[in-house]
Amino acid sequence: MQNYYQKEIETMPVEEMKQLQSEKLVKQVKHVYENVPYYRDLMDKKGVTPDDIKGIDDLHKLPFLTKADLRDAYPYGLLAKPLSDCVRIQSTSGTTGRRVVAFYTQNDVDLWEDCCARAIVAAGGTNEDVCQVAYGYGLFTGGPGLNGGSHKVGCLTLPMSSGNTERQIQFMTDLSATILCCTPSYAAYIGETLQEKGLGPDDIPLKAGIFGAEPWTEEMRRNIENTLGIKAYDIYGLTETSGPGVAFECSEQTGMHINEDHFLAEIIDPDTGEVLPEGSKGELVFTSLDKEAFPLLRYRTRDICVLSRKKCSCGRTLIKMAKPMGRSDDMMIIRGVNVFPSQIETVLLNEGYQPNYQIVVDRKGNTDTFDVNVEMNADQFTDTVSGVTAKEKALANAMKTMLGINPAVHLVAPKSIVRSEGKAVRVIDKRKLHD
Ligand code: ADP
Ligand code: ZN
Repeated sequence: MQNYYQKEIETMPVEEMKQLQSEKLVKQVKHVYENVPYYRDLMDKKGVTPDDIKGIDDLHKLPFLTKADLRDAYPYGLLAKPLSDCVRIQSTSGTTGRRVVAFYTQNDVDLWEDCCARAIVAAGGTNEDVCQVAYGYGLFTGGPGLNGGSHKVGCLTLPMSSGNTERQIQFMTDLSATILCCTPSYAAYIGETLQEKGLGPDDIPLKAGIFGAEPWTEEMRRNIENTLGIKAYDIYGLTETSGPGVAFECSEQTGMHINEDHFLAEIIDPDTGEVLPEGSKGELVFTSLDKEAFPLLRYRTRDICVLSRKKCSCGRTLIKMAKPMGRSDDMMIIRGVNVFPSQIETVLLNEGYQPNYQIVVDRKGNTDTFDVNVEMNADQFTDTVSGVTAKEKALANAMKTMLGINPAVHLVAPKSIVRSEGKAVRVIDKRKLHD
């Protein structure tokens, strides 16, 4: 049986949802125009007034907002409410440059936590569950978001934050945690640590995991599901739109339902800004429909993915987004070829390696160098030198088939690549230092 946190919204007929979105959009545009001079200027420059926006079909008339705008307007330039009405600040992880700060009213926090609660319920969570939140707490949105959602569902919440993996495992077993929330790379690390202790899936009480905040492949999902003995659900979000819970996976595990009563999604061509039809791959753009303090209209996420309205077996009618396989800025152009770290992850896991790797790109003369360091499995560590070389070659060939260019693969000692307790750093691009 399917459970929903807010059934009426989650299963609302599409036409009704569009009507709801239209009504909210009209109000939201007025709110922004009246209270955010920065965006009002952008609208004025484009010759658009709030009266031009009568519903979601007019969305394309509005100007985009980019991360550069957010940095320009730092810290208060996009604030739409007096600070006296705000109760919280959160900030991006700073993965790609200067941090962005976002503001929340109490109502904003409530709606955000509802979104996370929908995700937990979709993963099978109820008030009988013990929910271990191992995302970082603090300015990062992961911990606070899932913590709030867990409370709303009525789970017994274990606010662990990230790190101290030994204690995570001890509390997980002693206090019978049934749901684990953290980044997928940290989930993999917790799984690895369990194995080292000689513990298997049957030794821990977990049944589900809610993992997000960074790209992860289907291969990585299977790896985590097997080591932890759980069903692993994806969750997506970004600080700019509130945090995790913008979209969440259901039991079908074929993409994430977007909480589109709060976040209106579009896919655009990242080069031209043109809106693309459903099913096209492009850059995800969000318009917040309910946010009071930090409402963003047509915010370009730089995440590349596809939207789909295909009927879902869970009964939810909310539109789905495919797993974003990295942001446009994660894409490396190496010797003229586009390479995403996720492609390398796919090859590694398919070839029987663990998801512990780092990509180093540099430039020698006019040529890009492309090195992939991969940890050997413990049994390979005792291989002869020629045995290791042969394995490196085989892996490089598999990557060449996937990518079209040849990396230099280096098998390194087990445990020599730093483990991540938050978002993993997969790429070191030294070319940027020389530019
Ligand atoms: P930063 O931009 O500094 O990393 P955030 O913590 O707000 O700050 O990260 C939001 C970004 O994280 C998203 O734009 C997206 O690129 C990535 N992300 C979040 N959840 C997922 C997910 N489930 N799959 C892939 N990428 C994700
Ligand atoms: Zn579904």
